[in-house]
Amino acid sequence: MKYIVVTGGVMSGLGKGITIASIGRNLKNKGYKVTAIKIDPYINIDAGTMSPYQHGEVFVLKDGGEVDLDLGNYERFLDTELTRDHNLTTGKIYQEVISKERRGDYLGKTVQIIPHVTNEIKNRIRKVAARSGADICLIEIGGTVGDIESMPFLEAVRQMHREEPAENIVFIHVTLAMEDLQGEQKTKPSQHSVKELRALGLSPEVIVVRSKSPLQESAKEKIALFCDVPQELVISAHDADDIYEVPLEIEEQGLTTQLMKHLQLESSVEGSGWKDMVARMKSTTDKVKLAIVGKYTNLEDSYLSILEAVKHGGIDNRCKVEVNMVEAETLEEDPAEVEKLLQFDGILIPGGFGGRGTEGKMKAIKFARENNIPFLGICLGMQLAVIEFARNVANLGKANSTEFDEDTPYPVIDILPEQTGIANMGGTMRLGDYEALLKEGSIATELYGTNYIVERHRHRYEVNPEFVDRLESFGIIFSGKNKNRMEIAEIPGKRFFFASQFHPEFRSRPGRPSPPFDGLVRAMCKYSKEKEGIQ
Ligand code: GLN
Repeated sequence: MKYIVVTGGVMSGLGKGITIASIGRNLKNKGYKVTAIKIDPYINIDAGTMSPYQHGEVFVLKDGGEVDLDLGNYERFLDTELTRDHNLTTGKIYQEVISKERRGDYLGKTVQIIPHVTNEIKNRIRKVAARSGADICLIEIGGTVGDIESMPFLEAVRQMHREEPAENIVFIHVTLAMEDLQGEQKTKPSQHSVKELRALGLSPEVIVVRSKSPLQESAKEKIALFCDVPQELVISAHDADDIYEVPLEIEEQGLTTQLMKHLQLESSVEGSGWKDMVARMKSTTDKVKLAIVGKYTNLEDSYLSILEAVKHGGIDNRCKVEVNMVEAETLEEDPAEVEKLLQFDGILIPGGFGGRGTEGKMKAIKFARENNIPFLGICLGMQLAVIEFARNVANLGKANSTEFDEDTPYPVIDILPEQTGIANMGGTMRLGDYEALLKEGSIATELYGTNYIVERHRHRYEVNPEFVDRLESFGIIFSGKNKNRMEIAEIPGKRFFFASQFHPEFRSRPGRPSPPFDGLVRAMCKYSKEKEGIQ
């Protein structure tokens, strides 16, 4: 196994995950199987109990792992499917060490950070890497060097560096060069963060510098000199128009060849799929406008996978999708705000929890349905589409979800039967991959091109089967089912009205868009052209 360990300096939020995923992508283009482990030094066992305001969206894996959004970037860039073990947290490590202590596994010993915690970290990393069957394992240590929380992880990888043969492990440090008022890129923060790494016994072999514009030669020279790396291993990771261009930007600087040299890897393979995809993305001429009506609208990362999946749909349909975030609550009081949705070619309602904003989201759904605007609802978005339909089409006036109104006379959305006795909030939803059978002749089968699908889930509530017959008699169709569980709702005869209980965004890939997103964007393009024709 070859390990590429990445640390971050200067500050968080540098896009370290994208940088590393890009490095991995380039190695994949050379024919290697690449996997990734993300280390989050927080004490939470997983990201499942955290609000999207904290670290952005919670990404859901096939095995139901609720993890950091960087794993989504890894899945998309490396076109792979990871498992929950690929996200290590302090919580997971300590939970294991403490239960081993209680079992008596360390009997007679004083249990300490070194070696017990660090051994647990190293064992996990090696086990996960081996199990993945990959040639190369990227290890991203979250946070910034100097954080108290990340110390045991840095010590563990320091030990690995000593234990592994030199050609099996390489350290990359990602820093930031900010411009001063004269526009000169400053390297002092990078120098300091490498110094801090050194004090912990780690010397990076490669320094990747994030910056607004390409790294100036003088800055490169300085970093090389002060941080003790050859100049060709100071890599500029400057802002790109789109994150999918970062692998190409890094590749131009020869980093892949350098890494292969260090890791003693040889390959004559040269995959061009990614390059072709980027070229296609950049050659789009059409433009459509999508409204995402949500609750966490001022933080783009909270809907990251949805934004990516929309982009994938755009690449496939050769059209650029401009996304506008609309705060659901603004639609609740003012009908004029709802009318403004007419300017959009499509409306998307994402997942969510709790009642705030739900009435506004339903106003948007009603508007989409009545004005025949392409609509995609995801998870909560499907539940609200069903409630809206029940109330306004199927004459079930006060229909609701018991999540928002326990006493509703028409609980068209109700808690999953297996959820009723659950007290713990962490990891207890209906999570991860479940299959669905699709109805012959439906939009769903047309989109997926098959009648059997597997998609990822994250919910506690579902369509109440008792209301299915009544709702269907008014024209909505539940075209995807897992036994008695409604997975898809669609309204035929519309431009596009499709909603899923699952989260199709998590399996979407650049070059291989998720079918519902592809379908939405296709319908939006068609609708926008129709509008142009009318005007
Ligand atoms: N709150 C809803 C539920 O738990 C929807 C969840 C979601 O959108 N992810 O079922």
